[in-house]
Amino acid sequence: MHFAQLRAEADVTVAKAEHCFTALCDHMSEHAEVTRKDGKAKIRMPYGTAWIDLREGGLKLLARAEDETSLAFVKLGLAEHLLHFAGDPKPSIRWTGDGKSGGALPYFREMRVVSSRRITPRMQRVTLTGSDLQRFGEQGGLHIRLLIPPKGVAAPKWPVMGEDGRPVWPQGDDTLTLRTYTIRRIDVAGGEMDIDIVLHEGAATPGSDWGQNAVPGDVIGIVGPGGGNMPVADWYLLAGDETAIPAIARHLSRLPEGARGEVFIEIADAAEKQELPLPSGFRLTWLLRDGAAAGATQLIDEAIRKAAFPEGEENLFVWVAAEYASASAIRKYLRTERGLGRRQHQVAAYWRRGRQEGENTPDDGDKSHD
Ligand SMILES: Cc1cc2nc3c(=O)[nH]c(=O)nc-3n(C[C@H](O)[C@H](O)[C@H](O)COP(=O)(O)OP(=O)(O)OC[C@H]3O[C@@H](n4cnc5c(N)ncnc54)[C@H](O)[C@@H]3O)c2cc1C
Repeated sequence: MHFAQLRAEADVTVAKAEHCFTALCDHMSEHAEVTRKDGKAKIRMPYGTAWIDLREGGLKLLARAEDETSLAFVKLGLAEHLLHFAGDPKPSIRWTGDGKSGGALPYFREMRVVSSRRITPRMQRVTLTGSDLQRFGEQGGLHIRLLIPPKGVAAPKWPVMGEDGRPVWPQGDDTLTLRTYTIRRIDVAGGEMDIDIVLHEGAATPGSDWGQNAVPGDVIGIVGPGGGNMPVADWYLLAGDETAIPAIARHLSRLPEGARGEVFIEIADAAEKQELPLPSGFRLTWLLRDGAAAGATQLIDEAIRKAAFPEGEENLFVWVAAEYASASAIRKYLRTERGLGRRQHQVAAYWRRGRQEGENTPDDGDKSHD
């Protein structure tokens, strides 16, 4: 099948152009296929392709993709990383070609709450409705960011596309709060998705509060999706705390036929257990904190250490999402003591004890479109 290609270009004047070129290529090679030669690089991402040319005093960027959303993601990825590596003064990036600035983000949808109900004592399921959700239902569509409007604002202002490919966010009284959640269920044809929100402790918890207070008719924005696919393997280990239950449930429902594995889920207590689509060949173990604070135990770490990985099994994959310190310890253990290669594991910090979302470093979370 032939797809029309969309393209956009930007000539960027930047000090330390060579440093930026190298840093960009090195970083992108962690989650994309990068080929480079003589100051030219081609970066093949899951959703499009970018070319970077090192020139006298700057870089020439070219982005190509098959649709407007994918093109926007390629432009966004290049712009964010280039601005990060360029440091101050920030270079000015101005894209020309396909994809307009000033309008709605192609990866944004305005949604409305259909229903909101407690599925366990500390988990609220919010059903949202909106149109044009196909992209959110595709294989890689696992996570979204909720754009939570200021309290009492019924008709919020939403971000628009900036000339540099990044969103321009409403400011002042219109400031939105961003929180990352997983699409627990999606019905593209019916225009609906479920988000399961953990109601947790904390002084200011906008995501948790929004979930708890959502009522039918409330308006909310979403951007995304991100998250990536689960690689094909014969044996899987999936583990996480309650924030990872929606992602684990999604993964379990689409693993290859015949796959086997272990699932470890840490929850506050037995009342938080819920039905999961566990394929035969999988064993699920609930790890109960029973009074200990979330993010303060080593329950997942200990369970993974005790787990028997299949003998001589190269084709295995370990997926973990948990609190930052727990995720860091597990990542280190899997790499150093179990000797897992990059393609055999993915460990994400879904939240960080004592910090609000957004106060984390950019690499803490499960990066979109890895
Ligand atoms: C890719 C991804 C997918 C995610 N999917 C889900 C999901 O489907 N459902 C879900 O509930 N969460 C999910 N999370 C986690 C969620 O984004 C965070 O828990 C987020 O911090 C909640 O925002 P908040 O406004 O409630 O709290 P924040 O304002 O971010 O934090 C306020 C305080 O609460 C603490 N805190 C945050 N989360 C927790 C927690 N779970 N338990 C105890 N204390 C906490 C913080 O340390 C801080 O002290 C996901 C995160 C990522 C990165």
